[in-house]
Amino acid sequence: MRQSSLVVVANRLPLDDSAARDGACEWRRSPGGLSGALHAILQQTPATWVGWDGEIGLSSRLPAIGSVRLRPVALTADEQAGYYEGFANSTLWPLYHDAVQQPVFQREWWETYRSVNQRFAEAAAEVAGKHAAVWVQDYHLQLVPRMLRELRPDLLIGFFMHVPFPPPELFMQLPRRVELLRGMLGADLVGFQREQAAHNLAQLAQKLLGADATDDAITIDGRTVRTGAFPVSIDVGEMRALATRPDVVAQVAQLRHDLGKSKRVLVSVDRLDYTKGIEHRLTAYRELLRDGDLKVGDTVLVQVAVPSRERVESYRGLRDRIEGEVGRINGEYGRVGEPAIHYLNQPFSRAQLAALYQTADVMVVTPLRDGMNLVAKEYVAAREDGTGALVLSEFAGAAAELSQAFLVNPHDVDDLKQTLLRALDASPEDLSTRMNAMRQHIAEHDILAWARAYLTELDHTGRLARRFFGRP
Ligand code: UDP
Repeated sequence: MRQSSLVVVANRLPLDDSAARDGACEWRRSPGGLSGALHAILQQTPATWVGWDGEIGLSSRLPAIGSVRLRPVALTADEQAGYYEGFANSTLWPLYHDAVQQPVFQREWWETYRSVNQRFAEAAAEVAGKHAAVWVQDYHLQLVPRMLRELRPDLLIGFFMHVPFPPPELFMQLPRRVELLRGMLGADLVGFQREQAAHNLAQLAQKLLGADATDDAITIDGRTVRTGAFPVSIDVGEMRALATRPDVVAQVAQLRHDLGKSKRVLVSVDRLDYTKGIEHRLTAYRELLRDGDLKVGDTVLVQVAVPSRERVESYRGLRDRIEGEVGRINGEYGRVGEPAIHYLNQPFSRAQLAALYQTADVMVVTPLRDGMNLVAKEYVAAREDGTGALVLSEFAGAAAELSQAFLVNPHDVDDLKQTLLRALDASPEDLSTRMNAMRQHIAEHDILAWARAYLTELDHTGRLARRFFGRP
């Protein structure tokens, strides 16, 4: 395979499952935010993407997608269980999200996580040209930066953590914490969504490794690792274009009609994940109906809960609990032809989401903890007419930027209830002031701005960013 001057290493290749079967690959729009985020950048750059081919069982010879070459990494069923479902999603994911669900520590997962990380590092080393930049993504691959540096000291190595990076009290619980810390510090630049995460890393590097560390730089083994916050964003142009497409505008009218023209519509769109706070939200909604603050005759909730990680035990239990609660609420408060909640356990296309966002008088984004939450930004981008209210958890990375949202502590059901009512009752003037400020922010901070900022910091000279994005 030819070598590239930019290599992205991520858990998954961005392929469309159905398209892969007939040989014609398309960008995959998985329900997770990562492939969507990188989609906009790599379409216009000559790069190689190293990633797991999922369960598609692709051959090692994959066609390029536009200018992006694909380098698949195969995983056996056991590796998938130990690396992906085990250490990544049952140990690191819950721990990094404030342990809102108890992390599981199983010793045998570690060796699989380590060996799979080694395979990703080897694949990246193989496709990276001399002095290339390699950009490693997320908690699945936290050991890759150091492994890659050992294989290829000539490379410029970036690491970006899309999920939160926890405070020392939590991180210290991790078995293998020193290896994990050293792994990510193999990078030249470690990027996070929020500044607090860089602060947490500095404290941990001091405490566990005795390193010299500030919130911007950590010195270890005679090298300096730079750190910083680079809040990820969305393809604002794409969402705005979708929002004004005639078929999407027609879908909005249809949805409005189907939901009841005079009704106030609340919408939530989440992967079905315990970090998303779906249960707390349903409790708040049920109590608002119970107390008579909301009535099914004039308000309705649409909850999209996309199936996710269904092979992980804790996710199956969550689905049962959520579906039980939706059933109870509809059973108790719904009427014939008029449910209190429309619950949709299926994935939606970008166009369908653009329509849903425009149907939402109030978008309810209340995760208990979230690295960023792209749905919140997509909602803002889709509101071309400047109307609509965003209720947003303080514990989503997006809250640091979208401060004009109705911010809420989702652990506090009373606060949730009050905030939902405030958003529903806000004046059009108040809403448009808030929405326009948020729209301006994301217009100036889109996905390309994110990549440019990160790559410029990775390569001080600015050559890398200029090559891919031209002059700012
Ligand atoms: N998404 C989608 N179809 C769906 C639901 C979500 O394409 O049915 C997309 C959504 O538009 C967003 C991403 O999945 O871009 C979710 O990213 P977010 O940061 O909100 O959460 P994550 O799933 O990464 O935790």
